Amino acid sequence: MRRKVNQAINLSDYKDIWVIGEQREGKIHPVTTELIGEAKKLVEGTANQVMVVIAGHNIEAEVEKLLYYGVDKVYYINSPLLETFSTDGYSKAIAELILEKKPEIVLVGATSIGRDIGPRLAAKIGTGLVADCTKLEIDPSDGKLLQTRPAFGGNLMATIICPINRPQMATVRPGVMKKAVHEANAVGVVEKISPTLKDEDIVAKVVEMIPSGKKRINLTDAKIIVSGGRGIKGPEGFDLIKALADKLGGEVGSSRACVDCGWIDHMHQVGQTGTTVRPVVYIACGISGAIQHLAGMSDSDYIIAINTDPEAPIFKVCDYGIVGDLKEVIPAMMEEVDKL
Ligand code: FAD
Repeated sequence: MRRKVNQAINLSDYKDIWVIGEQREGKIHPVTTELIGEAKKLVEGTANQVMVVIAGHNIEAEVEKLLYYGVDKVYYINSPLLETFSTDGYSKAIAELILEKKPEIVLVGATSIGRDIGPRLAAKIGTGLVADCTKLEIDPSDGKLLQTRPAFGGNLMATIICPINRPQMATVRPGVMKKAVHEANAVGVVEKISPTLKDEDIVAKVVEMIPSGKKRINLTDAKIIVSGGRGIKGPEGFDLIKALADKLGGEVGSSRACVDCGWIDHMHQVGQTGTTVRPVVYIACGISGAIQHLAGMSDSDYIIAINTDPEAPIFKVCDYGIVGDLKEVIPAMMEEVDKL
């Protein structure tokens, strides 16, 4: 079932944009609706349709919800062997369908599952993959997908095309693309697929799921984020950051510097190698504004920066900048919030 890379293909056989839907324990992951939103934007003005392919078992009700995001068709690959994620099982089942139906573009979330399955799918299908894209566009001159991603440590953005192979495949950073709008009526249909999958096709199996015990935070959907950087001077500095976040009903974010110092868990990291966020308000406390940090938060509606250095680059992107010591500014802000 493998197709060789560079094997001659007829480009006109390929049409439509596919989103590889992601589910965890039967619940659709938000990256799926983000990719649907982006796919709908890319098909505008073309004859292409937006399709989702999702694998799992007994998740019909959840799968049908996808139709309310303006999807033309959902291919639901249903099998008890796909109940939990396995690289072998999922990539075999999805690659078979891609080879049969020939989508022109395939979008995968750059989540832990997407980063695992994306390259394996590309290898099975015999095409290329641009990983970790932050922007997608169609070139009006030839209809090719322009796939933009950070390169050289985030210091420049590279736009990459897939000149001869199809489908054109990209993994896309979660939190970057706008979610598709939920509509009152469903337009498309669900087509159920039974894969030709056997137990022995799955080499590594999930035996048991053990929760990490850590309280999960949801930076992607947070409306307010208060983030601490190296300027907080130590792990105890996060007490002040958390106090302000709690007062505002927000989440705690961090720069990578604090994560690397072991002051806070990586799940709080905002930026190129952390989470991409777009809250209504982002408060950067003691964060210099390195390009890799800005890559993850510059789409926030309002950015407030607190920094002792008036030349800090964060002041170039913020809406409100406070030059001052965060140990004085944050308590003063909390006092003002109490007065509201
Ligand atoms: P610093 O740059 O040290 O800035 C600390 C700031 O605190 C300074 O501006 C200082 O003036 C201010 N300050 C000091 N004391 C006070 C005080 N009392 N009150 C107020 N302000 C004060 N970084 C990320 O954040 N996220 C990423 O995802 C990420 N990915 C990366 C990926 C790659 C490939 C590379 C090479 C780097 C990445 N980085 C990332 C690291 C990034 O380049 C910076 O090193 C990092 O963001 C710096 O963190 P910082 O702003 O907290 O620290």
